[in-house]
Amino acid sequence: MSRAATRNAPAGPSPFRVEAPALPRGKFADPQRTATGERRASVPLSALETLWLNTGTLCNLACATCYIESSPTNDALVYLSHAAALPFLDEAQALGTREIGFTGGEPFMNPEFLPLLEETLKRGFDALVLSNAMKPMRRHETALLALRARYGTKLTLRISLDHHTQAGHEGERGPRSWGPAMQGLRWLSGHGFSLAVAGRLLPGENEAEARAHYAALFAREGIAVGAGDPARLVLFPEMDESADIAEITTGCWSILGKSPADVMCATSRMVVHRKGEPAPRVAACTLIPHHSDFDMGDSLAEASGEVALNHPHCARFCVLGGASCSA
Ligand code: SF4
Ligand code: SF4
Repeated sequence: MSRAATRNAPAGPSPFRVEAPALPRGKFADPQRTATGERRASVPLSALETLWLNTGTLCNLACATCYIESSPTNDALVYLSHAAALPFLDEAQALGTREIGFTGGEPFMNPEFLPLLEETLKRGFDALVLSNAMKPMRRHETALLALRARYGTKLTLRISLDHHTQAGHEGERGPRSWGPAMQGLRWLSGHGFSLAVAGRLLPGENEAEARAHYAALFAREGIAVGAGDPARLVLFPEMDESADIAEITTGCWSILGKSPADVMCATSRMVVHRKGEPAPRVAACTLIPHHSDFDMGDSLAEASGEVALNHPHCARFCVLGGASCSA
């Protein structure tokens, strides 16, 4: 079954889609050099501050531009088992990693997720769980309340609310996705969980105005999230690997006033278990789980090398984020 045929999938194109010409052939082809022959930027791992565990791509939704193409039937990344995750937690502990992030798919669909989350907190890590706060999460209310009581703000849930309007959110996430997400957010907030929201901007939408609209929504709904705090309301740039974007050269950093230390692969990695592979492996980041050039090895020790920024997501999402590095 295709993702679009999934029950409750959005009927039309995403309201957040990137409007840009197709990516020309020849770009992002060589890890060392860009299409124009310049030296491609790369990023060393400075310290593994956050280790992401991908719990599997299965999801109760099939959002229009889900970068990982999750759906109720896509198990290209299988459920990460508790046993398979433990060696990575051991390694992360030895490295002094602060935070374990969980993403999917929808993490609460993985039957071994709750024990894994508990193990993570028991070991003293901060835990960050990305969820849509819908039925799969609500099935685990009792276990979540017990974790909140025991670990308090060591556990944070970051809930996707793609837009501050129901139309924007459901245009991306499908009909009848707004109400359950709002109920889930109200439940988390009402029970005092450490809470964040991941949102997006429509093309041309002004960030300050969007934050004001989110703030009004949160006030109306009794959701305790500071919409002015970029760490609590995270507004992400859009991604589309088929759309044209500039490649990132070593010269871009100074032009943009940015540093390789600013991008996620300087401080994080993600464990993925690909279907058909005997064991999980480590990808450079959360955004590129399938590409062999971004497969870093089967342990955190192996995965500590430099990452060549040889993918459109490196440019559009991480480095440019709406800026341009042409001088
Ligand atoms: S809820 Fe998240 S993982 Fe699931 S389809 Fe939507 S964007 Fe993808
Ligand atoms: S998309 Fe590229 S630049 Fe961004 S974190 Fe991943 S590998 Fe690094």
